[in-house]
Amino acid sequence: MTEKMIIALDQGTTSSRAVLFNHDADIVDVSQAEFTQHFPKPGWVEHDASEIWDSQFGVLQQLVANNQLRPDDIAAIGITNQRETVVVWNRRTGEPLCNAIVWQDRRTAARCDELEASGWADKIQAKTGLVIDAYFSGTKLEWILNNVEGARAQAESGDLLFGTVDSWVIWKLTDGAVHATDASNASRTLLFNINTGDWDDELLELLSVPRSMLPEVRDSSGDFGSVSFQGADVPIAGVAGDQQAALFGQTCFSRGMAKNTYGTGCFMLMNTGSERIDSHCGLLSTVAWRLQGKLTYALEGSVFIAGAAVQWLRDELEFFDNASDSEALALQANPESDVVVVPAFAGLGAPHWDMYARGAIFGLTRDSGRAEIAKATLQSLAFQTFDVLQAMQQDSGIEMSALNVDGGAIANDFLAQFQADVLQTPVIRPKVLESTALGAAYLAGLSVGYWQQADLERVRDIDKQFEPRSEHREVAALLKQWHKAVERSKQWIDADE
Ligand code: ADP
Repeated sequence: MTEKMIIALDQGTTSSRAVLFNHDADIVDVSQAEFTQHFPKPGWVEHDASEIWDSQFGVLQQLVANNQLRPDDIAAIGITNQRETVVVWNRRTGEPLCNAIVWQDRRTAARCDELEASGWADKIQAKTGLVIDAYFSGTKLEWILNNVEGARAQAESGDLLFGTVDSWVIWKLTDGAVHATDASNASRTLLFNINTGDWDDELLELLSVPRSMLPEVRDSSGDFGSVSFQGADVPIAGVAGDQQAALFGQTCFSRGMAKNTYGTGCFMLMNTGSERIDSHCGLLSTVAWRLQGKLTYALEGSVFIAGAAVQWLRDELEFFDNASDSEALALQANPESDVVVVPAFAGLGAPHWDMYARGAIFGLTRDSGRAEIAKATLQSLAFQTFDVLQAMQQDSGIEMSALNVDGGAIANDFLAQFQADVLQTPVIRPKVLESTALGAAYLAGLSVGYWQQADLERVRDIDKQFEPRSEHREVAALLKQWHKAVERSKQWIDADE
């Protein structure tokens, strides 16, 4: 092999991947392995941290073997990861203390209500940019320390280490030499002060977390140690949480640039530059990345159900065999149809925040069929994105000139075009929809001088730009109906059900 390459490790919620990129930022090869999801009780979601490591290391070894890579062929390794998930392990044995508690896990919801009731919400938002929610790491770590036998004593004697998944993978890759995280991952823990850029003593005390457990917070592009491989060292040079990595991978380097990822859910992030912007519309302020000691912030809005609604069409309604068939079906719909689907299967996220909302189909008439429901379902992804984008523009005062998109569902041309129509803004779809892995590769490549920032904008390949086609008037009418439907799906179940 003559040209050096970059490897991105993408440790996701359901699978671990290793992706090989060349200097043009094209994907050369991918290895992927799924791992087990554990659901010990309703609302609990766990991963075995050893299995995460085995699967992540396994796909790395597979990628190396398949491409006959030698240490000299690899300029650097970047890491991106499922965010907020908590791993606690013993610094001496390297063994996880218990299963990792996954971001989706709701076991600390009552503790979060308690923190809220005792008046912590404003302070926590001011310090961390987050809302008090079981989603973030802090209360999960507190739960482990309070509930796993012997955990508190071991933590206090300095035997235990905490990390989000990036830290765990770094620690294993470096054979225990580096216990570190990057600022984007730290900003999801509820323990990190995004104003000072350091762990926050008051929050550590609130959740009784000893500082000795915490990883060192480093630049997202920089030194995270090295992997010893075939007798040589390959640097780990970039780390970011998955959504922030995708923002970087989409080269949203300047203030006001945003990306939306259409996966199971939708995650929209907007770069707000060196200034944190506080939301009045239910969005989070978070760290996008830290480069050369300087924090860049982002606003973040999430929609719980996006591509998952297409899975629902496929698996529950059995409309088709492959998610990609949704496009052809939607195109058969009667253009006069007024069907609206609100996929509030798990309540509504930003900016509506109604956990008691439930999914609904409105506007059915005798001739409504599969095609109309499929079309309305795809449209619901675009409408939900519109709502988040509008909140973001309101909070930031920044009018967006285009939306960068990625994720599996936006391969759907009908959806991408409809999204441009609804937003009345161009939608830009890059060739590489794997923005998350690409972002980790970029962060690593920048750090070792493999790329310069200007190269990244140049190598970025656009697959297609979708220009808005519909008239403002038509869009306004569609949105009016969507919002009417959303209102009617809210508060569907009673709080005590
Ligand atoms: P995640 O990383 O959350 O697993 P991906 O980015 O892999 O998600 O995207 C997969 C999701 O996108 C699935 O929910 C699937 O239903 C949906 N999806 C995949 N391809 C299409 C398509 N062509 N049209 C609509 N939805 C799609």
